[in-house]
Amino acid sequence: MQLFFPALKLHYMQLIDTHCHLDFPVFDIDLQSVLSEAHSVGVDQFIVPGVVAEKWGHLLKVTGANHGMHPALGLHPCFMKHHKSADIERLESLLQCESACAVGEIGLDLFIPDADLEQQLAFLRPQLELASQYGLPLILHVRKAHDQMLKELRRLQLEAGGVVHAFSGSEQQAEQYLKLGYKLGIGGTVTYDRAKKLHRIVKNNPLESFVLETDSPDIPLSAYRGERNVPARAAEVAQVMAEIRGEGIERIAEMTTRTARELFKTLG
Ligand SMILES: [Zn+2]
Repeated sequence: MQLFFPALKLHYMQLIDTHCHLDFPVFDIDLQSVLSEAHSVGVDQFIVPGVVAEKWGHLLKVTGANHGMHPALGLHPCFMKHHKSADIERLESLLQCESACAVGEIGLDLFIPDADLEQQLAFLRPQLELASQYGLPLILHVRKAHDQMLKELRRLQLEAGGVVHAFSGSEQQAEQYLKLGYKLGIGGTVTYDRAKKLHRIVKNNPLESFVLETDSPDIPLSAYRGERNVPARAAEVAQVMAEIRGEGIERIAEMTTRTARELFKTLG
């Protein structure tokens, strides 16, 4: 009896993976089994963020064909060479007619070699304007550029807020995002012993500050290094958060799911 009880409890937990690239070719062959594995541990909704304009069509096709998948559309700061200024117009026309749940993933990345902040800002700013115009939340990718991003967010004061995905900043930067109404995306990084700063952020902030994510196929959990990441692992991220905070996993599931629903209005 004891053996079956935890599995039964997991079955009734509902989790949302707020960031997974299920449109990437690495999921082409076995997407359905990846989704059933996720369902078996309670992960039943998936936000799939856009990366480059030429892949938006495919992303919308995949998310439209699979129950529980929600598209976000945006131009990722790590793929500057792929972006053209006409992509912004295309983004606007898609936001008008498609049911995107967010603008993303967009942001600033000064960690990549040859990062050009001005060029990244030139694509970030019009996308922030579009999010504001259409009342959509943001899915933000930010590395080594949190202060610059906070400055942009303060200037615009978006009502719909958003999530800083795979948050990697300092405790002070976390506090500033939270004060502006943004949430922090917690994924595989939290499962590594060396992520002490992130552990403190997870422990010392209100539970409604966080949403779950995996960034599949990237950022594998510490127990699965070198493997393709999958949305089912969001349940293990929740478990690690529960241990860090000294709370039950059910509470983590309930609150992160509620926060994700409040943020992304098209979620069921
Ligand atoms: Zn991503």
